[in-house]
Amino acid sequence: MLIVFIGPPGAGKGTQCRRLVDSLSIPHLSTGEMLRAVKRQESALSRWVASYIDAGRLAPDHLVMRIVAQKLQSDECANGALFDGFPRTIIQAQLLDDYLVEHLKPLDVALELQVEEGILVERLLKRAQIDGRADDNYETIRERLRVFREQTSPLIEYYAKQGKLETINGEQSEEAVFAEIERAIAKHKPSPKG
Ligand code: ADP
Repeated sequence: MLIVFIGPPGAGKGTQCRRLVDSLSIPHLSTGEMLRAVKRQESALSRWVASYIDAGRLAPDHLVMRIVAQKLQSDECANGALFDGFPRTIIQAQLLDDYLVEHLKPLDVALELQVEEGILVERLLKRAQIDGRADDNYETIRERLRVFREQTSPLIEYYAKQGKLETINGEQSEEAVFAEIERAIAKHKPSPKG
């Protein structure tokens, strides 16, 4: 199955994705993690990528798509993938759709994890104390939420128009969120070929 997971920073996508990969046996592709891996290398590219991440801004669409396409071509993704934090702009969604059409791999479902902004800020500030992630400071959190509102939230309508959107209430317990996600995915499971 191919699934995209949309939600503002702090909504709990990472936690739910870790549970989902266990139950679906497909790889978890987090573009945030992929870009942080690029950032850790010592190169001109890594400094360029860091300049976006550290400011809470989005990395360029074509760069992100190139990294994603490389992964999608690998054997690891033969049975699909769970995208976490991708696509994040309409352009990325269109690039992904073009790629999938070309490779005859349809997208099954777009999950949207909904959480109110006040709760997100609280959760992210708490995570900052625990993980010490460089982009979890108050200013960058505000910027990432703004970027989500302006650049990523239009994807909700984009996937609704394709009949692929499932909205999940992310303000429940981890278990309740997971149960809702599993029900949403079951509605879009492709029927086995045969
Ligand atoms: P969060 O969910 O807290 O926003 P992520 O780990 O998904 O964290 O992303 C961290 C940062 O990585 C983003 O703020 C952005 O700079 C960059 N990033 C991640 N995914 C994308 C993407 N699809 N397009 C552009 N930039 C991205």
